[in-house]
Amino acid sequence: MRRVLILGGTAEARALAAELAGPGVHVVSSLAGRVSDPRLPVGEVREGGFGGPDGLAAWLTARRVDALVDATHPFASRMTASAAEAARRTGVPLLVLRRPGWREGPGDEWRRVPSLEAAAELLTAPARVFLTTGRRSLQVFAGRPGVWLLARSVDPPEPPVPAGVHVLLDRGPYTVEGERALIREYRLDVLVTKDSGGAMTTAKLVAARELGLPVIMVDRPPLPEGLGLVGDVSTAAAWARGRA
Ligand code: NAP
Repeated sequence: MRRVLILGGTAEARALAAELAGPGVHVVSSLAGRVSDPRLPVGEVREGGFGGPDGLAAWLTARRVDALVDATHPFASRMTASAAEAARRTGVPLLVLRRPGWREGPGDEWRRVPSLEAAAELLTAPARVFLTTGRRSLQVFAGRPGVWLLARSVDPPEPPVPAGVHVLLDRGPYTVEGERALIREYRLDVLVTKDSGGAMTTAKLVAARELGLPVIMVDRPPLPEGLGLVGDVSTAAAWARGRA
């Protein structure tokens, strides 16, 4: 029996769990446990942090894990760093599964920035901002005179919601038609997003292109050096099946 731990919280992680589950493979998916009512993968699921690299290394050893796949979100950099360190210490093979980032195309008007803070610096009043960088980033953008924010997130941000912020609770996938209507309804004039990649949330980029909205795109944090990286679920599944 091969034992695979998937660090999840993404659509790719759920797809990988579904593809790997079957005779001869025991899959455990790990979720951070911060989203209420998360979409659950098939198979065994555990929730909550491990307690840094030490905790994860202990878990890998105790559960005799043969292969570790980090299929977390491209911006979950602490988890990825912890996985790299725990894998190094225990010798458990680690593969990173990341959906490819988005690419600018004809008609797009993007500014790439290295951080949320750099994105916030680019917002000049007056602006009506479509903010899709996650509820925990709200404080970075709030409180700028003349900058109004429509902040869309899956779960509500910690109260109190700052002045000049309207929170919209929703979870993808989204349609281009719906995103276009939202941009028009709220008279939004700039989109701020992280380079999450993937099909579930690209509709906003298409709608922004069609309506001539500039996009401020926050780049992914760099991966720790030396990690194996793949961009698709079936390659990750084949890799995990081959470990043991
Ligand atoms: P993060 O900042 O890299 O992680 C912070 C801590 O949360 C980690 O050190 C770890 O705690 C715990 N953690 C994170 N992912 C975990 C997992 N899959 N299983 C167990 N513990 C986990 O991560 P984040 O950006 O907060 O993301 C948290 C989760 O949400 C991830 O599973 C990610 O895939 C998902 N997600 C993130 C985003 C995003 O924009 N960041 C978007 C969609 C989904 P310990 O150190 O105690 O082990």
